Amino acid sequence: MKHLTNYIDGELSPPAGGRYLENLEPATGALLSHAPESDETDVDRAAAAAAAAFPAWAGRPAAERSRYLTRIADLIEARLDEFARAESLDTGKPLSLAKSLDIPRAAANFRFFATAILHTTGESHATDYSAINYTLRRPRGVTGLISPWNLPLYLLSWKIAPAIATGNTAIAKPSELTPTTAALLADVCREVELPRGVLNLVHGSGASAGAAIVSHEAVRTISFTGGTATGAAIARIAAPMFKKLTLELGGKNPTLVFADVDLDRHLSAIVRSSFANQGEICLCGSRILVEQTVYERFLDRFVAAVTALRVGDPLEAATDFGALISAAHREKVLGYIELAKSEGGRVRLGGGVPEILPARCAGGFFVAPTVITDLPMSCRTNQEEIFGPVVTVMPFRDEAHAIDLANDSRYGLAASVWTNDLTRAHRVAEQVQCGTIWINCWLLRDLRVPFGGMRQSGVGREGGDEAIRFFTEAKNVCVKV
Ligand code: NDP
Repeated sequence: MKHLTNYIDGELSPPAGGRYLENLEPATGALLSHAPESDETDVDRAAAAAAAAFPAWAGRPAAERSRYLTRIADLIEARLDEFARAESLDTGKPLSLAKSLDIPRAAANFRFFATAILHTTGESHATDYSAINYTLRRPRGVTGLISPWNLPLYLLSWKIAPAIATGNTAIAKPSELTPTTAALLADVCREVELPRGVLNLVHGSGASAGAAIVSHEAVRTISFTGGTATGAAIARIAAPMFKKLTLELGGKNPTLVFADVDLDRHLSAIVRSSFANQGEICLCGSRILVEQTVYERFLDRFVAAVTALRVGDPLEAATDFGALISAAHREKVLGYIELAKSEGGRVRLGGGVPEILPARCAGGFFVAPTVITDLPMSCRTNQEEIFGPVVTVMPFRDEAHAIDLANDSRYGLAASVWTNDLTRAHRVAEQVQCGTIWINCWLLRDLRVPFGGMRQSGVGREGGDEAIRFFTEAKNVCVKV
């Protein structure tokens, strides 16, 4: 059985403590590989390598750093099939999704920041004819980048690319549940001869490797994506050490469907926004709010469309919907379905493990796409993040009621609004408390826009200029004229 390695100081190295974690295939429950259970010793080595590499890397012309990132993007694209298969095996998501979304978007992250750093502009301010102030942006040093299991390479590369493009060096930790694409990325970095220490990939659990990165004195900048409770724990450590921190956290996203929605055109996108990647995308809508005049009609069509999703072996080309990430997560999601029932919810579809699965997937971690109605917004099912294939559907009276329901949440990551009345759409977008609002679309991505959450969905923004600002330190120079 394959033992994956860390990538530290340009070398593939086993964990110092010799301990490994089992990496299981969610679709079957079978053992895929062993991944390092790294600890402080590995993180110390990675931090020393990253610190040593920083001055020379920061001093390289942007065009040179850009070329490395472009070559990384090229190689990921050239090895699309291999990366996509690894991502599907690690996560349980359909191979078709990994191939069309996760891996191309990971390559695009490298390509975007490779070119963005060639086009950044500086700021200057003329002060009352007496001085000129100009802003110097300089890389911050060693960065710590921690990401979750749902879109493993895509989310990790979304942090690595801007961090190293702007001249920082990095210690990146993928989730212990999904180590393989990060290991493939290490191969790519070696192939393009990325200078030693610029990127270090340290595998391991959050409690061991993750905590060691967060608390390491040399790591002055942390970009974290994951659960809200983990984000709070990281902030407690980072704040008194005065680290710069961005947190992309959980969500409980509303989907607002108005009576004038063009359902013929948008129903499949609404289904996708609910169940893509088995609902394990932080941006998936999990609370569908429907104008009461069309509630029953919408529900019938929505349930019929979800019923048509093909649940099955993620490696099969026809599969739309695969396995959840782990047995523990499946139990958590099933527990929420039981909770919903105890809260008075009516299960309209799904509600458990799919009845028919291919033989290869008999030991896999599946939950059927589940639609629940008749729950108030105040109940736990509607307030807590489930992060799986469970959506609730409820009616609203009018626009004001829809906005109240949408905002009745401690989270504020994303929302989608479905209507033919664009004036209303803009009005609703302004009032819904979320970092991203999609109108008549979902998951449409432009890498230049600010991305992040409000309330307990996070602090800080990623994307485009926001990422470049985050990973650089602004210094003002005031010149008397
Ligand atoms: P976790 O918070 O459990 O883990 C995220 C990452 O942090 C993993 O690499 C994990 O390691 C690591 N980690 C765990 N504990 C610590 C710690 N004490 N110190 C440092 N690192 C730690 O989240 P999940 O992996 O379960 O991901 C699901 C969550 O991510 C959901 O809440 C989802 O909404 C959110 N998410 C948010 C996104 C956004 O952009 N806002 C995007 C995608 C997901 P390990 O897994 O090895 O334990």
